[in-house]
Amino acid sequence: MQSVGEGVLVMNTARQIQLFNPAAARLTGWDAGSATGLDYRLVLNLRDAAGSKLTDVSDPISQVWKSGKNVVSTDLTMETKAGRKVAVQISLSPIISNNSITGAIGLFRDISAEKEVERQRNEFISTASHEMRTPVAAVEGYLSLAMNPAVATVDDRAKGYLDKAHSATQHLGELFRDLLSVTKMQDGHLAGEEYFDLGALAADAASDMKFTAQKKGLDVQFGSADEKVRKDNSILPVYAVRANPQRIREVIMNLLENAIKFTAAGSIRLSIGGTNDSVTVAVQDSGIGIAAEDVPHLFQKFYRIDSSATRTIGGTGLGLYLCRSIVEHSGGRIWVESKIGEGSTFKFTLPRQASEKIVTKKAETMPAAIPTVASAAASAAPNSSGGVMTDIKKPVAAR
Ligand code: ADP
Repeated sequence: MQSVGEGVLVMNTARQIQLFNPAAARLTGWDAGSATGLDYRLVLNLRDAAGSKLTDVSDPISQVWKSGKNVVSTDLTMETKAGRKVAVQISLSPIISNNSITGAIGLFRDISAEKEVERQRNEFISTASHEMRTPVAAVEGYLSLAMNPAVATVDDRAKGYLDKAHSATQHLGELFRDLLSVTKMQDGHLAGEEYFDLGALAADAASDMKFTAQKKGLDVQFGSADEKVRKDNSILPVYAVRANPQRIREVIMNLLENAIKFTAAGSIRLSIGGTNDSVTVAVQDSGIGIAAEDVPHLFQKFYRIDSSATRTIGGTGLGLYLCRSIVEHSGGRIWVESKIGEGSTFKFTLPRQASEKIVTKKAETMPAAIPTVASAAASAAPNSSGGVMTDIKKPVAAR
């Protein structure tokens, strides 16, 4: 412990430091003698991503006490005794003796340099994607015009090439849009959290997706196990949550889009339910299903399953990664239950809030895409990507 490069501390269940190694002293500026016996939060002076001091609830150690498992946090900032702010990774593990937790061991290290490299990389990707979206939207617009028989005349062979170019451009636009969302997510641009009714938002998303599903001969049903039927009106309880409603809507839309994409026949069901503490949304399909070995990787960046069933279906592999980032950032969890050939159910939960917290304003919907030459012409043009994603995913840059 004396020679370990990482800061190591041992605390009791009252969070008082019992042991403090030389690296911990070097990183914090506190010597072991003064640190011993003090609350570890006071010595490390930790702040969360929003810059607020850790409360008993936001302190990652509270999860260790609750779960009895190791918890790793990479978005905390430590302030040294001299007032220097340092991004730290801290890993906290319970010390268990005779089946009860008697304390915890914490390992921490300075990750400021890694964070800076990540920030620069994100900034580069975000600027590049933003700049490239405009010319891509222009190319897509002109291709749509060239394919529109009311505007231009092309022979069948040329139309085939244009079709391919159009769908490749659409894919490129989607990729830029998803990359931008990912970098925004990583930069913590999730402001705009508010209290809203997740039930109303989910019902709205389901009805918006009905049309897209119908184009493929599928139906999107919406319901809840907690539904109370009064005369002929279904009344849903209020499922209050606190998050950014536009981003959560993006999550539901993404899951519904995937369900439609990977289902050839049958139906899609969006349901919502809750306990006192949490609200769960489930998107169930009767599609191709997912093999058990792919499940652990599904929510990773750029992961796409390469099989004969999926090879012809377009996508960027960023959708589920984004869903996970948004849900986890909002204090929730996302997972999938699936069997190959029998369909999949994607579920996510968010912490439930008191319904009185929702103020009069109804959950907003995503801003509609600004119509451009591309979108106007595309509505008249045949849809080369199979007609599934166009309405929702179509990236149209404001020009
Ligand atoms: P994309 O759909 O753009 O490829 P996602 O991150 O949304 O990216 O999904 C990653 C992969 O997970 C998909 O390529 C697909 O192989 C698989 N997948 C996602 N949703 C489903 C589903 N409902 N049924 C079967 N496979 C799915």
